[in-house]
Amino acid sequence: MEAVNKRELIVSKIKNGTVIDHIPAGRALAVLRILKITEGYRIALVMNVESKKMGKKDIVKIENKEVDEKEANLITLIAPTATINIIRDYEVVEKKKLKVPEVVKGLLKCTNLTCITNNDIEAVSEFRKISEKPLKMKCVYCDTVIDENEILKQILGSKS
Ligand SMILES: [Zn+2]
Repeated sequence: MEAVNKRELIVSKIKNGTVIDHIPAGRALAVLRILKITEGYRIALVMNVESKKMGKKDIVKIENKEVDEKEANLITLIAPTATINIIRDYEVVEKKKLKVPEVVKGLLKCTNLTCITNNDIEAVSEFRKISEKPLKMKCVYCDTVIDENEILKQILGSKS
């Protein structure tokens, strides 16, 4: 077994599913939360590994789930550096292009307490992108703007 090196263990392949690499260190669990990954999936989490580009990074592998366009774009909210590869039969068949979503429904909370989304249990929050760098999104109901810090706080801080 001496021939097995650390690198091989970290990049060990999955047969089918999704590999999300270059996640900022410490945010792997938040990525799972955004994807609403809970029970039933086989997942490999690699956290705080060395990265030439990033210093430290996290990697998430999810077996038998292919992340779709919408899910991939949500990941940009907390992990803009992430790369997403779809794997079939051990081969990368698709590399997702990430872009900040134009609309985010039901994930973020409006910071305006009088907003209808905070007062009507049937109202689903909805934000539209107004800028990408810096990241700003606007509530479609009351025009409240939330920035990157607020978005990070909500997603990284919230319990699923
Ligand atoms: Zn609002």
